[in-house]
Amino acid sequence: MEKRADALQRLRQAHEEVVLAALRAEGPMSRTRLTERTGLSRTTLFAIISELMERGAVIETGAEDDGRPRGRGRPAARVSLNPDAGLLIGVDLGRRRIRVAIANIARQVVATAVDDSAPDADEAEQADLAVALIRKICEDRGIGLRALEAVGVGLVGVMDAPDRRWRAAERLGAAFGTRVEADNNARLAALAEQTWGAARSAEDVVYVRWSVGVGGGFISGGRLLRGAHGASGELGHVSVDPAGPPCHCGGRGCLEKRIGTPALLEAAASRGVRLTGTDDLLEAARSRTPAVTRVVVEAARTLGTVLAGTVAQLDPARVVVGGDLATLGGLVLDPIREALGELALPGARRPPDVVPADLGPAASAMGGIALMLRKQDPLPPVPDTADL
Ligand SMILES: [Zn+2]
Repeated sequence: MEKRADALQRLRQAHEEVVLAALRAEGPMSRTRLTERTGLSRTTLFAIISELMERGAVIETGAEDDGRPRGRGRPAARVSLNPDAGLLIGVDLGRRRIRVAIANIARQVVATAVDDSAPDADEAEQADLAVALIRKICEDRGIGLRALEAVGVGLVGVMDAPDRRWRAAERLGAAFGTRVEADNNARLAALAEQTWGAARSAEDVVYVRWSVGVGGGFISGGRLLRGAHGASGELGHVSVDPAGPPCHCGGRGCLEKRIGTPALLEAAASRGVRLTGTDDLLEAARSRTPAVTRVVVEAARTLGTVLAGTVAQLDPARVVVGGDLATLGGLVLDPIREALGELALPGARRPPDVVPADLGPAASAMGGIALMLRKQDPLPPVPDTADL
C-alpha cells in the first residue's frame, strides 16, 4: 500500500510539473487547451488545476479570446501561473553574510536579500537566520510559499561532512516542509553564471571566485563537477609553493594564502601602503596606486598560472572570474589572459575567453535555485492515471 501511495504521489507531482511546464512555455490558456497540450484526461487535468489553485501556484485570469465564436454560456477562463508564488529558494550561507534568492513559479528570480551573520555562527544558526530573512522578504513582497518545491543551499568549504549539510538542510526543510539540497557555494555560483550569467550557453566552464578566499567550480559537458569527495573546484588550495606557509586545509603554500585579500593587504603593507580592508584595497587599485597595482597584477598572474593548468586539463570555452577582485576588470583579467596565452599547450586552438562574472554577490544564492531547477529537468514522460 505504501508503495502504491508513493507511486501515486510521484505521478501527481509529475502531472503538476507537466501542467506548469506547459503554462511556462505558452503562457495562460483555457483548461480545454491545457488538456490538448498536456495529453492528460479532462478529469485528471481539472483535479490538478484545483490542487494547484488551492496552493496558489496558478490563478484564473480573464477569458481566452482566440477569435472563435463562442457557444452559449460564459467564455472559458484562462489558467495562468501565479507570479507571486515562490517555487524555489536559493540560500547562501557565507562566512559573514547570508543571502537568499527566490524564484517564482515561472522560474524567474523575483527577489534577493542579504543579512549579516556572526562569524562564529554554525550552519544551524545561519539556517535560522536565512529562514527569518526569507519570511520577511516574502511578507514584504507578497510572495506566497505554499507552492514551494525545493530549497538549494550553498555552504562554505568542502562538502565531505554530512553533518554540516544535514544541520543546515534539517532547519530549512523543517521550516518550509520541503526538499533541501546543499552544495559548495562557489560551485553554486558557477552554476548560476552558467544558467543566467557570464557563462550562459557555454557547456565547458571554469569559474573562479577571488575574494578573501579563492574558490571555484568546473562545468564539463554541461554538468557541474563535484568530485569523489565534494572537493572539485577548490582552486584556492592548489599549492603554488610547497615550502610556503601552512594553510587551514592542511596543505602548504596554497594559492589562497598567496592571493586572498588578506595576503594582498599584507603584500601592500610590506611595500609601504597600509590599507584597512578589501574596499580600501580595491579603491587603491582602481586609483592605480603603483605599489598596490603591482601587488594585484602579480597575484592575478599567479592565479593565471594555476588556471593555465586547469585549462590544459579541462579545455573550457570560457573562464569566468568572480568575487571582489574581478570588479577591477582588465587590471586582473589581462594578466590572467596573458598567463593563459603564454602557458597554453603547444598547438592548442586558442586560450578560452576570460570574462568577468555577471551576477554579483547574489550568485551563490541564485545557484541554489539553479541546482534545484536542474533536478526538475528534463521532465519524465507522464502516463495518465487511468490505468493505475
Ligand atoms: Zn589550503
